[in-house]
Amino acid sequence: MTLPGGETQAAARSPDLQEAPRSCPSAPAAPGARLLGLLGPDGRVHNLKSVMTVDAEFLEAASEAGPVEARMRFASRCQTSGCAQWTGSRCGVIDKALAHIEAALPVEAGALPPCTIRSDCRWYAQTGARACGACSYIVTDRRAQLAAE
Ligand code: SF4
Repeated sequence: MTLPGGETQAAARSPDLQEAPRSCPSAPAAPGARLLGLLGPDGRVHNLKSVMTVDAEFLEAASEAGPVEARMRFASRCQTSGCAQWTGSRCGVIDKALAHIEAALPVEAGALPPCTIRSDCRWYAQTGARACGACSYIVTDRRAQLAAE
């Protein structure tokens, strides 16, 4: 139902539906997602400098070397309340990461890592440059890391 001013009832009830769509920086590896970065030998994710959208063929080829989300990070539209990580008002992933990653110190303006989604990144919108300081340490599929610990 549309309310005066064009606002729907659902949007009026739910603050997360009122803002512009944002990008999830740790999204599933699925056709149409954007490849955000690659895990390097230093254990950190290194972001691409230009946008690359992946398709099924790319993902199939990449999966031959093992779980794709353990080696690559993808971005796609933030699902807000449709995601298990949504707390009701924000993404819980970056908050947990900032609480645990010691290196997540504020980075100086101008020292932000390259990133193709910063303009609409969910984590950056929530936490600013601190999110970018922690971001490169976050691996979507941590099963391999956890098994080694
Ligand atoms: S947290 Fe920063 S570096 Fe990571 S995806 Fe968002 S804007 Fe890019």
